[in-house]
Amino acid sequence: MYNAPAAAERVRDELPNTPSRMLALVKADRSAGATLAEAPVPTYGPGDVLIRVRAASICGTDLHIYEWDAWAAGRIRPPLIFGHEFCGDVVAVGAEVNAIRVGDYVAAESHIVCNECYECRHGLQHICRRVQIVGVDRPGAFAEYVSIPAQNAWPTNRRFPPRIATIQEPMGNAVHAALSAPLAGSTVTVFGAGPIGLFAIPIARASGAKKIITVEPSSFRRGLAAIMGSDIIIDPQEEAVVHRILEETQGEGPDVVLEMSGNAQAISQGLRALRYGGYASLLGIPAGPVEMDLADGVIFKGATVQGIAGRRMFETWYQTRGFLQSGMDLSPIITHEMPLTDFERAFELVRNGQSGKVILYPQGRDAEIDT
Ligand code: NAD
Ligand code: ZN
Repeated sequence: MYNAPAAAERVRDELPNTPSRMLALVKADRSAGATLAEAPVPTYGPGDVLIRVRAASICGTDLHIYEWDAWAAGRIRPPLIFGHEFCGDVVAVGAEVNAIRVGDYVAAESHIVCNECYECRHGLQHICRRVQIVGVDRPGAFAEYVSIPAQNAWPTNRRFPPRIATIQEPMGNAVHAALSAPLAGSTVTVFGAGPIGLFAIPIARASGAKKIITVEPSSFRRGLAAIMGSDIIIDPQEEAVVHRILEETQGEGPDVVLEMSGNAQAISQGLRALRYGGYASLLGIPAGPVEMDLADGVIFKGATVQGIAGRRMFETWYQTRGFLQSGMDLSPIITHEMPLTDFERAFELVRNGQSGKVILYPQGRDAEIDT
């Protein structure tokens, strides 16, 4: 007869001296802003790891939560520690965790998937319909400690400092979008030079793109696009975007459009400019329904239009690691770094767009230096 094993202990290993209280940035109530507060260090289950957060970067989603817009009001249940792009050191592992050990340096896939739904069981975990997002649906990483399932922890080589380790998650969005189209020898147009569009520029270049055109209204971000190696940079407030792109592509249009703005006008311009038989990866999230000319923009063109959600688990993470290991330099995109306690200044920088990636250090700046 089968004998069930004795109840496993909850903890496999835990670093001594892990405190019970921590500093965290909390969305305390259903209004704009956030509060620095003392909170209990998260508990963790048998399949989880507890991570001491070294760096946490700010994503547009965090700004939605901070400003408490309609999306946040519909999704977020305060009080919530938010933040989902991060890296840190594993300080405890649950009893059933084998692949991750105390002392490992990890980043994290922020989407916790069910592994049971139709999509998960078809190898499409990135579109799991029961996804739980760290810092959105459960406690996040703008804190000294965060706990996640071990399968979401992504071991990272310590030669990559926390500022780089933490941006693997948003960089993965760009990798997923870019590598969904054939890039070798192609002309690529990136709409939106926010952090994700900026990541896409060197990714497209490293994948063999011959010409990269970037469309971005912010002059600060156009400057970053130039630093990242975009060949042509267009200000949509000053130029007829589709006309200029066609001029730059001998009237053919780009082979690939990477839509990373979520702006309705940009989506429509991207499909209009795209060459016949071209590929469009749509990653930017529009605020509402978007009107476009499907007949001329997609159907008669024979275009391949691909929606991009999250990162493929875990192909995208391996590809992202590969680009970093090949020496891709993303540091110009990281424009501001500060302790978590400076969160108000950090969110203002993200809000006004005078920034690339902004990184917070929950342990103070020292945690960044002593990798
Ligand atoms: P971001 O808001 O920093 O960047 C968007 C950029 O688009 C800004 O620099 C903005 O100036 C620019 N823009 C605005 N209007 C434009 C126009 N008409 N033409 C060209 N550019 C224009 O955001 P980000 O963090 O870089 O993310 C990019 C987009 O991807 C956002 O919409 C975000 O919500 C979305 N996103 C999607 C996923 C996903 O899984 N699909 C994941 C993360 C982020
Ligand atoms: Zn699922």
